[in-house]
Amino acid sequence: MALVGIARLASESELLEAKRSVEYFEIPTRSILNRTKPNMPFRWTINPYRGCEFGCKYCYARYAHEYMELDAADFEHRIYAKSAAAHLLRQELARIDRRDHIAIGTATDPYQPAERRFERTRSILEVFAREKGWHVGLITKSNLVLRDMDLLRELARANVLGVSLTITTLDEKLAHLLEPQAPRPALRLEAVRRLRAAGLCVSVMPNPIMPGLTDAERDLDRLARAARDAGALSFGGGPLFLMPSAQKIFFPFLEKEFPELAPRYRALYEKSAYLSRSYKDALGERVQRIRDRYGLASGPIEYRPEVWVEEQGELFSLQ
Ligand code: SF4
Repeated sequence: MALVGIARLASESELLEAKRSVEYFEIPTRSILNRTKPNMPFRWTINPYRGCEFGCKYCYARYAHEYMELDAADFEHRIYAKSAAAHLLRQELARIDRRDHIAIGTATDPYQPAERRFERTRSILEVFAREKGWHVGLITKSNLVLRDMDLLRELARANVLGVSLTITTLDEKLAHLLEPQAPRPALRLEAVRRLRAAGLCVSVMPNPIMPGLTDAERDLDRLARAARDAGALSFGGGPLFLMPSAQKIFFPFLEKEFPELAPRYRALYEKSAYLSRSYKDALGERVQRIRDRYGLASGPIEYRPEVWVEEQGELFSLQ
């Protein structure tokens, strides 16, 4: 069968480097801003890479590799750096509404190991650092974000910037099983502390919260307290979404590492990638109780940057 669209581009991509069991490619890109479905907290997403070397067992974004006719397991072994990311962003920002919120890193980690060499995320931040008046969110599991501290501070002077560190658990052993190549939770907390000390708005996201693994109130409470102590201003919290491409990796993982949980998960996700309304409601109440205990907000903090576009009106002050 002849490959078309993104599958053809992936098959023709130039090899940038092969390292251990990971290969890096440069993939031609027509557009860098992706429009989200309605009801999302942001209108646009930017993912500087396709695939993610962190290889989280629950990763929902594996479907993106299936679009390229690749196996879900290739998601962490074949990493595609998007070409001309900054050039495209400059062009595309001129065509969208400045009030639209933009999230970086929703389907790949913008600070995965590839970023050390290929700097696609950095090139995108450089574009925003020269702009004014955008709402930008950045989501990562990596303390490599600290490399770009100066750029982030510059960006936050004239745009509303929120940085979210995802930490699913403080249990180092569990984190290593779930997120084998991602930086340890302690390093992520240290990144929260340093970003906040630099005056940036930082959140900790415990997502995805996994039944029987990370959803106990005691564990979430410990995590929220550590987040607050590190300076986080908000604490997210949503349950695991497990579509078939993610189930292919997650179910065998459970059977190997947590066999007692495997039947429960198969039953929970048998009919839908989403958990039941009753589980979501109970989890939502649990997370809210914890937030209230530590004075944490549920979402990004709006503030008025030092340099701002006047017609956008007054925002809350951080002080
Ligand atoms: S860091 Fe995010 S994108 Fe990367 S593998 Fe983990 S869940 Fe997927």
